[in-house]
Amino acid sequence: MEKKLQLAGIIEESVVDGPGVRFVLFSQGCKHHCPGCHNPHTHPFVGGSFWTIPQLIERITSNPLIQGVTFSGGDPFEQAEGFYLLGLELKKLGYSIVTYTGYRIEEIFQLGKTNPYFTELLNVTDILIDGRFELAKKDLSLPYRGSKNQRIIDVARTIKLGRVTEIEFHSLAV
Ligand code: SF4
Repeated sequence: MEKKLQLAGIIEESVVDGPGVRFVLFSQGCKHHCPGCHNPHTHPFVGGSFWTIPQLIERITSNPLIQGVTFSGGDPFEQAEGFYLLGLELKKLGYSIVTYTGYRIEEIFQLGKTNPYFTELLNVTDILIDGRFELAKKDLSLPYRGSKNQRIIDVARTIKLGRVTEIEFHSLAV
């Protein structure tokens, strides 16, 4: 049966979910339940709408302004296989991939030992914004994330160097 992604919603054009103009997919389902989460409707693993990969590709490619695609949530790693397969197709088309997750990258490396799709989704991700939202560390001035503990990680350099390598974004592009 054709793989489908279960989505809480989409934003067709965003400049606040990663660099440039991005198409954003909100995954339905999240186990982290961070107090103060802005998207509590994305927590249940039921609901939302179901999309095939060709349907999403068609929607994304129909807008010539889109430079990259952001997987947000919910937590895309709870549908790691589907987002990996979509990410693979998008990379072939030249889009950059930003993935948000409540897991820290160290947990993803660990979980990838039993669920290879965790590793695969990480491998198609250019920028990972990791970690749970922590209300006590909330800072709305931070680009692309909600709390100070969350990191903007260059995935390729992290894997190449064998240590977590963060990207510094000092201000939002306006
Ligand atoms: S990981 Fe994200 S979507 Fe999930 S509860 Fe935390 S802030 Fe909300």
